[in-house]
Amino acid sequence: MNMEFERKIAIPMEVKEMFPIDAAMAEAVEKRREIIKRIIAGKDDRMLLIIGPCSADREDAVLDYVSRLRGLEDQVKDKVFIVPRIYTGKPRTTGGGYKGLLHSPVPGEKPDLFKGIIATRELHMRAVKETGFACADEMLYPENYKYLDDLLGYVTVGARSVENQQHRLTASGVETAVGMKNPTSGDLSVMMNSINAAQHPHTFLYRGWEGHSAGNPYAHAILRGFNTKGGQTFPNYHYEDVMHLVRLYEETGLQNPAVIIDTNHANSNKNPYEQPRIIREVMSFCRENKEARNLVKGFMTESYIEDGNQKVGEGIYGKSITDACLGWEKTRELILELAEKV
Ligand code: PEP
Ligand code: MN
Repeated sequence: MNMEFERKIAIPMEVKEMFPIDAAMAEAVEKRREIIKRIIAGKDDRMLLIIGPCSADREDAVLDYVSRLRGLEDQVKDKVFIVPRIYTGKPRTTGGGYKGLLHSPVPGEKPDLFKGIIATRELHMRAVKETGFACADEMLYPENYKYLDDLLGYVTVGARSVENQQHRLTASGVETAVGMKNPTSGDLSVMMNSINAAQHPHTFLYRGWEGHSAGNPYAHAILRGFNTKGGQTFPNYHYEDVMHLVRLYEETGLQNPAVIIDTNHANSNKNPYEQPRIIREVMSFCRENKEARNLVKGFMTESYIEDGNQKVGEGIYGKSITDACLGWEKTRELILELAEKV
């Protein structure tokens, strides 16, 4: 290979020995995972709200944000089940730019992957310990999932990864709910095939082992909008899209039919201020149609302390350095409004 191998990185077991969780944290994660699975399975009719910045760029601001969610949770917890987004690896459309906390614990500085693994684990650990939340992260690099598999409440497979075999097979061995996004092209058969693959057991190579996965009955759909060949952006959160997905689930006979609506990305055309309206529209047709309401299990929303986004290096606390986000005041209103509509 035309590649230099600089150093061997500690395996997940070693990193977990260095940064172990205690019994109270394990119990908090387990309890929240169970609720998330019950919502996905339709046994708990609260709405899931997976919410937080596009990327977790720095520990202080992310924990500040997550503790603000904690402060709101009691007011909405009978209607809305909050899962903070702590996204530590960012897929890049062109390959360039900031790749997330995992690569760059300090944005803009040269990559340090071991520091990144530790920063990622510490951030998720602190979120559990200090707020009791089990958070969501994207499984961008399936081999890295084991560094976090005792901490995450919810996992996603992103739009650029959902057709990839290793992501699908690894999702089949994840013990919590995994949301599979529609691909950027919008082809829903790719997403349904991915859910099918994840719901079944497999034998495959994982971190140098021949492993057997159990199959994940809680693998489900996330609609995030799509782009055409010409680069135009289209949403797929409308009534017709959700009802089409109801039919696809009927045809495929997959377990636990469920969809999470991603309110940013191609659904908002990356305008974060559209997110409250999108949630309002979805809640409105869910009120009128039981089949739609039964399929829609929640929302994924990009939100942070400050409105909008900034370039890496601008250094504004709590402002996204990737996709533009809804700031805290608007977020607070949105969560309270959603709770009224459930
Ligand atoms: C994201 O959730 O920030 C993201 C990159 O999503 P997608 O995979 O849908 O582009
Ligand atoms: Mn994003």
